[in-house]
Amino acid sequence: MLTSIKTIKRGFLEVLFPKVCTICGLSLPDSEQFMCSQCIKNKFEVANPERKQVSSDTLLPEGVVLQHALWNFDKGGFLQDLLHALKYHRLTGVGEDLGVALGKSLKRNSYFRTDEECLLVPVPLHPKKRRMRGYNQAGFIAKGIEKSTTISLCKKQDVIRIKNTKTQTGFSLEKRRENINQAFMVKNPSSFKNKVCIVVDDVFTTGATAFELADTLLQSGASKIMIATVAQA
Ligand SMILES: [Zn+2]
Repeated sequence: MLTSIKTIKRGFLEVLFPKVCTICGLSLPDSEQFMCSQCIKNKFEVANPERKQVSSDTLLPEGVVLQHALWNFDKGGFLQDLLHALKYHRLTGVGEDLGVALGKSLKRNSYFRTDEECLLVPVPLHPKKRRMRGYNQAGFIAKGIEKSTTISLCKKQDVIRIKNTKTQTGFSLEKRRENINQAFMVKNPSSFKNKVCIVVDDVFTTGATAFELADTLLQSGASKIMIATVAQA
């Protein structure tokens, strides 16, 4: 009985609010959540088409064995709007869809090795920022990666952000490093010990944030770090 009511309710909702792709507005089949497969495939510029170890031109610090981004950031473009909406307007379902696509793209990169135990670590937000926003966008991207790779997510409380940093936009690399220095703290080192940690974020710019978190995790016993982001600037 309950199921049929639910089905009817869903039917009504679909008539009133048909499920459409957030990007192109075309209606979505049941198998797709917020973005259609065509938009995921063709809408944005692939950041790492040759599936290299480093998809940007950044030098990786010791212990970081992969930096992989899904798409190139399009300043002023649609991807920027989408990531902005994910960050500030609770488009969390889109975040998960992006994470699924990112996970699939990671699996095609031969430097993405899962023969050792891996753990997904979304870049934590400072509790103040988290309370204000209500959620961590990187957490939803990581949930999507979990869906497409079956790698588990670390517990939120195991690594936290203790420094409420100002926005890094416009800062030089040196200034960003200084701003983010000692920003993270591992509360439960045993969760990371001897594991390959996959640091997850929305955008990779200079790497200052991801590398700082990587350093904190390595000091707590993580064996290696891989960095996965939806976009790279
Ligand atoms: Zn679409």
